[in-house]
Amino acid sequence: MPDATAVPTHCPYCALQCGMKLRPTGAAEPPAEVVERTDFPVNRGALCGKGRTAPSVLSSRVRLTGPLVRRPDSGALEPASWEEALSAVAEGLRRTRADHGPDAVGVFGGGGLTNEKAYALGKFARLVLATSQIDYNGRFCMSSAAAAHQRAFGLDRGLPFPLEDVPRTGCVILVGSNLAETMPPALRYLTELRENGGKLIVVDPRRTRTAEQADLHLAPRPGTDLALALGLLHLVVAEGRVDEAFVAERTTGWEAARAGAMAHWPEHVERITGVPVPLLREAVALFCDAPSGMVLTARGPEQQSKGTDTVGAWINLCLATGRAGRPLSGYGCLTGQGNGQGGREHGQKADQLPGYRKLDDPAARAHVAGVWGVAPETLPGPGRSAYELLDALGGEVRSLLLMGSNPVVSAPRAAHVEDRLRSLDFLAVADVVLSETAALADVVLPVTQWAEETGTMTNLEGRVLLRRRALDPPAGVRTDLEVLHALAALLGWEKGFPADPEEVFEELRRASAGGPADYSGISYRRIEEEQGVFWPCPGTGPGEDDHAGTPRLFLDRFATADGRARFVPVTHRPPAEETDADYPVVLTTGRVVAQYQSGAQTRRVAELNAAAPGPFVELHPRLAERLGVAEGEPVAVVSRRGRAVAPARITGAIRPDTVFMPFHWYGEGRANTLVNPALDPVSRMPEFKVCAVRLERG
Ligand code: SF4
Repeated sequence: MPDATAVPTHCPYCALQCGMKLRPTGAAEPPAEVVERTDFPVNRGALCGKGRTAPSVLSSRVRLTGPLVRRPDSGALEPASWEEALSAVAEGLRRTRADHGPDAVGVFGGGGLTNEKAYALGKFARLVLATSQIDYNGRFCMSSAAAAHQRAFGLDRGLPFPLEDVPRTGCVILVGSNLAETMPPALRYLTELRENGGKLIVVDPRRTRTAEQADLHLAPRPGTDLALALGLLHLVVAEGRVDEAFVAERTTGWEAARAGAMAHWPEHVERITGVPVPLLREAVALFCDAPSGMVLTARGPEQQSKGTDTVGAWINLCLATGRAGRPLSGYGCLTGQGNGQGGREHGQKADQLPGYRKLDDPAARAHVAGVWGVAPETLPGPGRSAYELLDALGGEVRSLLLMGSNPVVSAPRAAHVEDRLRSLDFLAVADVVLSETAALADVVLPVTQWAEETGTMTNLEGRVLLRRRALDPPAGVRTDLEVLHALAALLGWEKGFPADPEEVFEELRRASAGGPADYSGISYRRIEEEQGVFWPCPGTGPGEDDHAGTPRLFLDRFATADGRARFVPVTHRPPAEETDADYPVVLTTGRVVAQYQSGAQTRRVAELNAAAPGPFVELHPRLAERLGVAEGEPVAVVSRRGRAVAPARITGAIRPDTVFMPFHWYGEGRANTLVNPALDPVSRMPEFKVCAVRLERG
């Protein structure tokens, strides 16, 4: 019997956007319960612990239920009315603009915001505040893959095919992704791949639970997977495995890419990566012997100061072997944040306008300005990237409006970022909980959560989904769209910032029309009827929405001017910071299954805290013995940026030259205190995945 009281929706956390249903309980703790939803094809009812316990954060016990304003006399955040809080935000932003100019006001968004919010936030920054200084935390997630996608294919969509294709391909190379911890329901695609006779190669410095399922595990030293991909391409050429017809018909730039790969002899690559030559040969055989193949990357290769080139090297391997632009073959990025895909398409990124248009493209400016009813020349140009914006706080950027992000925990060189936030003239934060960043604010605006508001998300497949409001929010909170609507009015924009999400989406459709991420043919009605719609989905006329959407990209042509994919020549280079006598060990950072990103939500869930109560330092028994620490004893990890202390977790599943820390916590175990903010020159991605540290007894 269908449960009429349960509302179909999606999990609030990662980019898999698992389908679920929510049924209001009528109680306070929690106000809703999760009901299985088997009809949604991506997860077919399966959820990880984070999704199953998501309603806990809806409880008033752990969330904000009214605005807070910092009082000058006490210096403390104290309850305030919405009118007072909104007036304080408008006045804080207005004063900075009057004193220092529009670019002294910054805006920082998040990859968890709905498409409607991301769109409205970008429009608010560029029209109401007239600032160029807007970026978002998705820059820290998959921007390197996005940049590499653009360079090679002329279009960035995380996966160019639905996940349902993965079990039917011949071989998957999974690079720097630990699906068992980050999105467990997706693991079944790899299990089914192997059940169907397909092969799985996992590239990861750690023998993770995902790597344990592989036919072949390659464990390169962190920061060397660019060399690894070049070594594999070298062998593809040397062993005559290049798909010459595909390269000739569907690509450009092969000769330069080939020359780059030929400089990377297998023995040389073994010295750089630590991966033995026989395993390199085995990987090439598995990949090339299969009738089709995919390379899927995640944060491992992407969160590096050479992340764009590293992903480019894996794309080159796909192109040379004809594993792209064909059924059941291709390169894809496993996007991390809930709306990491849509969040980068609709204007909260420093260099973009809605529809994945470029802010420095005159035609794009003219189109979007037309939808917004302003002159193109009034739109600011591109601004600073996320880390550069955070680094400028208290200097050229003096006030900040922040929505849906917790950079005190999630940004690189986090202690420095925390200092910069403290040095602002004015900080306003809209969030659902009093995160570590919200606790620093002058004004905190409590906003609704996933289950209490309607909006669209775009999952890692490029599938646009709808989350309908399933229950009423507490009386004291408002939606982010209502906040932007009210602030815009206080700052002189009575019109142009509707609070109704469907009205915002209808405008987003028009703004995206004709752009690379064209949503103009997508409507709320279609999303509900079709279990999501894949972009690009152009409308065929005003008010029409009969395009089928595009589950599979590039089968006929790539999105470049000539329709061919572009090889990009790349060469290996070391990480921005190499180990030396003072800092002899490599630190790499990542996630655990029971926590999500900065932990602002999941650290407030008892079941998740019981499963993952705090940070740890994973290290090899030989390293532990040299240091003289036993399991559970405190280890201090020291980098050039600071020190973090956490209990030792000793395991033979990690390389002896490497330690791993998850980054979900604040306090003395904050891993991002240590991280090097060296930026990729193309994507401006910081180097979360590799820096040099020394270990001390804690
Ligand atoms: Fe939510 Fe991701 Fe877990 Fe699915 S895998 S339940 S989307 S956190």
